[in-house]
Amino acid sequence: MATEKSETIKINLNAQSLPAGLYLVGTPIGYLKDISLRALETFMSVDVVACEDTRVTGKLLHHYGIQVKKIKYNDHSDERVREEIFSRIERGESVALCSDAGLPLIADPGYKLVRECVERGVYVTSIPGACAALTGLQLSGLATDEFLFAGFVPNKKKAREDLFSKNSALAITQVYYETAVRIVDCVEAIASVMGDRHIVVTRELTKSYEEVISGTCSDVLTRLKDQPIKGEVVLIVSGERVEKSWDDEAIIKALRHEMVDLGASSKDAVKSVMAQSGWAKKQVYAFALDVKEQM
Ligand code: SAM
Repeated sequence: MATEKSETIKINLNAQSLPAGLYLVGTPIGYLKDISLRALETFMSVDVVACEDTRVTGKLLHHYGIQVKKIKYNDHSDERVREEIFSRIERGESVALCSDAGLPLIADPGYKLVRECVERGVYVTSIPGACAALTGLQLSGLATDEFLFAGFVPNKKKAREDLFSKNSALAITQVYYETAVRIVDCVEAIASVMGDRHIVVTRELTKSYEEVISGTCSDVLTRLKDQPIKGEVVLIVSGERVEKSWDDEAIIKALRHEMVDLGASSKDAVKSVMAQSGWAKKQVYAFALDVKEQM
């Protein structure tokens, strides 16, 4: 977690005359000081900033005392907005593109604009910065030599399961964006489709409540059900399966935990233990009846 500390370092930032073109500028994912000096200088220097939400970017720029014209741009923006950006660049203007947080284009708008710049031979450059996917991956402790960034997990159950089933064959680390509200359903889906893998839920990266929850799907599910989480989440999934043996005793223990400790209904407990263990419904259900009788 980053902490504010009072200190004075004198740095001169100057507005400069920039060549016409598109400047992709990374912004912080939470902690405002995670912005590069070059990013600040670029914002001071460009003719216009194209951003997802002018209020969000306005707050960031206001924090650094930067005043610059802002226009709204997202991937739903029609051809007219892109044409406006191109005609500005043709007139010799420099245009910065940023998103609400992190790197533009990474699960954020900008790709269509950059593609068209490339096709038209327009100068494009990147001013790098924080990215939630890479920050989560760094903290996960999972292998970083090779990984898949899979973007947002789909909302719909079928699409989510199809994605995990496609990725379950990959023996490399996988990085997903997910919301705190859906994280339990998401981890249950991973456990049932990919097996009880080692996963890491990272949340609120660079912010006061930054947290890293690590373990097998079943460990993490227990923790998430005990203490639900809030905020923004990056989920990292190991490429390696964890072979945990689920014998009768482990099934009964997990059901007791769900039904007695967490107060889940037998139906929900069966669903969760099936997802964690990979056991069939009939067998888990039979044990759940025994647990219920003893309660
Ligand atoms: N372009 C951004 C980047 O470079 O990371 C990602 C933008 S995407 C629209 C937003 C998602 O990124 C969130 O739903 C969350 O999954 C993840 N995210 C962004 N900031 C985060 C943070 N501080 N902590 C954890 N996850 C974060």
